[in-house]
Amino acid sequence: MNDSTLALLGGAPAITASGPHFAWPPITEADRRAVDRQLETAVSIPDRSGVVADLEDALASYFGVRHVVTTCTGTAALHSMYAAAGIGPGDEVIIPALTFHATATPLFHLGAHPVLADVDERGRLDLEEAARRVTDRTKAVVAVHLWGLPEDMDALTSFADEHELMLLEDGSHAHGAGWNRQMVGTFGTASAFSLNGPKPLSAGEGGFVATDDTELYYRVLLHGQYNKRCRREIPAAHPLARFAVTGMGLKLRIHPLAAALARAQLTRLEDHLAGRQAVAARMCAVLDGVPGISVPDLPAATRPSWYALPLRYEPAELDGLPIERFLDALHAEGATEADRPGSTCPLHTHPLFRTPGALLPGYADGHGLPADGFPAAEHVHATTLKLPVWHHEGDVRLADAYTTAITKVATNAKDLT
Ligand SMILES: *Cc1c(COP(=O)(O)O)cnc(C)c1O
Repeated sequence: MNDSTLALLGGAPAITASGPHFAWPPITEADRRAVDRQLETAVSIPDRSGVVADLEDALASYFGVRHVVTTCTGTAALHSMYAAAGIGPGDEVIIPALTFHATATPLFHLGAHPVLADVDERGRLDLEEAARRVTDRTKAVVAVHLWGLPEDMDALTSFADEHELMLLEDGSHAHGAGWNRQMVGTFGTASAFSLNGPKPLSAGEGGFVATDDTELYYRVLLHGQYNKRCRREIPAAHPLARFAVTGMGLKLRIHPLAAALARAQLTRLEDHLAGRQAVAARMCAVLDGVPGISVPDLPAATRPSWYALPLRYEPAELDGLPIERFLDALHAEGATEADRPGSTCPLHTHPLFRTPGALLPGYADGHGLPADGFPAAEHVHATTLKLPVWHHEGDVRLADAYTTAITKVATNAKDLT
């Protein structure tokens, strides 16, 4: 037995450091102090004051947008964004078929239809497929920036212009990511972000909507931030001001402790992104030549947030070794954080998208789903391996250990077939 014997076949594992190997968000003394201070200040904030105002101001300035409204989750942010954009019963919104379900699901609660469109071989929205799905009910198209790799925003902006659609963004994987030096989340009429636990900017639980459109901002407030916020932020003379007390009847405020955590994390976001960029570049440089593995092919215009490093698995280069077996071997080597995408998957595979009527009265089964499914979304999902991207110099050895483990499994794959 030598170094190259795979751990799955009884060899020594490539990685011996005990797990978990990746934890997010990184919690510092500054985070603890911020949350502690907030506990002493206020644990409920009904208006735009204190840490909620601080966080929204800091986000607005970071993104360079006029308005930011925080919410309790990213799902709520998407819901408020769609409602505020005036999307309603019968309207259609084009969503990439490969994303996390909450990009689309709030539309069901507005009586609207998410219209799925297939992706290209990189997992980005396929604009020819999207064009085929445009009808006279189509109101908007949503850019997702999967895994923090920005969509081609030149192409998406022209697509939206050409078809006279509103461009909206779900930036939940992509805080601080950019296209041509412009931050994602600032290309469309509005954008929604999650601040959930593992996201590049984390509040634990939270989200926000960003927009330059003041009317849309008022409607975001009315959707989920009723009473004091609406009364103080919507001018009394505005025709919508009379709805301030109830808004649209939902309450989707962020928790002040979550806002305090996100505010403290935001101070370090640029450092986190720069660290991830360096580690991702290092990992890609090694993995680029490994048989059976392709690294993302990034246009020069992109600045990713590296929510994850999505690798494409090419079984044909490894005598047809199934991805499950490759991953088992990788886990046996100790690369326990290597994974396949779970909940981020082709949306038409969820029962909610196939047979929504069982839960949501008025929705016909199979609406807008093509008989042959979404072959590219299925292929991309079935062949993606994802790795965490560390941001800290101290974790470079772990990153190297992961690329070593992948190299070891790939170069010895013949022993597994
Ligand atoms: C996480 C996520 C959401 C939902 O955010 P929550 O804060 O979990 O509600 C929506 N879209 C995408 C792409 C996400 O990754």
